Amino acid sequence: MSKKLIIAIDGPAGSGKSTSAKLVAQKLNYLYIDTGAMYRTVTLLAIRNNVLNNTEAVIELTKNTQIELEFKEGITWVRVNGENVTEEIRLPEVNKNVSEISKIPEVRKLLVAKQREMIRTGIGVVMEGRDIGTVVFPDADVKIFMTATIDERAFRRTKEFIEKGKNVPLEDVKKNLEERDTIDSSRSVSPLTMAYDAVLVDTSKVTIDEQVNIILEKVKETAAKKGLTVFIA
Ligand code: C5P
Repeated sequence: MSKKLIIAIDGPAGSGKSTSAKLVAQKLNYLYIDTGAMYRTVTLLAIRNNVLNNTEAVIELTKNTQIELEFKEGITWVRVNGENVTEEIRLPEVNKNVSEISKIPEVRKLLVAKQREMIRTGIGVVMEGRDIGTVVFPDADVKIFMTATIDERAFRRTKEFIEKGKNVPLEDVKKNLEERDTIDSSRSVSPLTMAYDAVLVDTSKVTIDEQVNIILEKVKETAAKKGLTVFIA
């Protein structure tokens, strides 16, 4: 039986993890899972239900919500209880509140359980987030921690907004990223941190192709050590 790999990609927003993770998954024909989309979905529901400051209510919402992720044509499509919220979970209002919601230990427990269930069948997967290599899959075969300078990350995110026809000032984007970094890195439960056995990839000065190649080299090396064959498109 051919075993496939679990590849964990963590790092702060704008570090290049989504872009690289999607391309790596496509090249390996692996499943791609964006766990940030799940925290964003719970945050969106908390905003809609006006319960951002009510931890118990947010936990109840998380328990009673069915989140479906489907990666198609380069996009993670998100449905919540059947409704398409793909665009709405990327709104500035969600960016502003998502890190506070992600601090709630019970919310994390529920979402981590869902994330583990998603790959039960033993398929190859590239999962990205903040705690994949440390908490969700501490035994992941390949662990990558991506980073880049705050200025580079803010520039990339602003460019993405412009490409989507949204004009958000660079300074606002930078402020949001800094706030999220601080909350994500300092929370008591599964903070954003590099696993001791992860490979650090600083993407500040490398191209997307180079980022992807660094990860694929690591994948090939790991597969060879485990006596596995990987097919790279
Ligand atoms: O990856 P993305 O920037 O979309 O994630 C949004 C937020 O979700 C992060 O800033 C963080 O607060 C939270 N998150 C998390 N754990 C993950 C993925 C995302 O806490 N595994």
